[in-house]
Amino acid sequence: MNPSLIFDIKRYAINDGPGVRTTVFFKGCPLHCEWCHNPESYSAQKQKLYSKEKCIGCGDCVEACEQHACVLTPEGIKTDTTLCILCGKCAEVCPTKATEMSGELRSVDEIMDVLKRDVPLMEQSAGGVTFSGGEPLMHPELLILLLDECGKMGIHRCIDTSGMSNSELLLEVAEKTELFLFDLKMMDSKQHRKFTGIPNDTILKNLRKLAETDVQIIIRIPLIKDVNDNDDNIQKTAEFIAALPGEPRIVNLLPFHNSAVKKHEKLGQIHDSRPLSEPSAQRQTRIIEIFKTNGIQASIGG
Ligand code: SF4
Ligand code: SF4
Repeated sequence: MNPSLIFDIKRYAINDGPGVRTTVFFKGCPLHCEWCHNPESYSAQKQKLYSKEKCIGCGDCVEACEQHACVLTPEGIKTDTTLCILCGKCAEVCPTKATEMSGELRSVDEIMDVLKRDVPLMEQSAGGVTFSGGEPLMHPELLILLLDECGKMGIHRCIDTSGMSNSELLLEVAEKTELFLFDLKMMDSKQHRKFTGIPNDTILKNLRKLAETDVQIIIRIPLIKDVNDNDDNIQKTAEFIAALPGEPRIVNLLPFHNSAVKKHEKLGQIHDSRPLSEPSAQRQTRIIEIFKTNGIQASIGG
């Protein structure tokens, strides 16, 4: 089986589901959300990251680059992307990690080796593994093998998803998963396309289908001022969630935080979208009230 591109494996994670978890981040996402705090997850390709603040100008990367794609300039290292073959040799020699590669091909065995080390802590804390991204459902072959291996070891399995996937695959994965963290951005499909790059019809259909199964679902809603925090969107979101089949749903509200700016810089991207911010505390209280009025328990964080 071919390995998949993983951009991080975070151990001791406490915000990706219950207990202490190990989170595996798959690279590549069908959505392109303006507020994404992991912009390195958009692309399903390996990428080179560069941080000017960490660079000491030693030139080791320039020497290591057989393609002559790296140049040391007064503004720091510049990479000619037409010559760069993403071999990673520059990152291997960089003494300060100013240059790093994002995305590494990992096999089931390699990932399971990391997970196995964390089993005692997972058991003590009622935690487990979370498959996140990017979009883990873009990597069905590796994901299903990992879910099976974790299932054999009794590891609690969680999928953090945008919901943008083939429905049959989603339901197959649900049979091997204890918990879904399902992201819901906004209800208006045109607005959804404007802010994420795609309409939301498939996502809403998939959430309804998933709610018909027994798998536990926590719905996670990013809250962004003047994007999705208005009463109309929140009311429609609450009505949609209230109408889902099965148990009343838990909703985690995740106010926007601006942690991606540095990552865009490292990727050499100019993030020229409008400045985004979180809704005021007063607004967040109002949003919780709207959910409560619709019989839904919503809280900040999670
Ligand atoms: S990734 Fe390889 S080709 Fe690209 S700049 Fe680094 S050493 Fe050169
Ligand atoms: S090897 Fe690292 S620290 Fe040295 S010039 Fe290249 S990026 Fe900068």
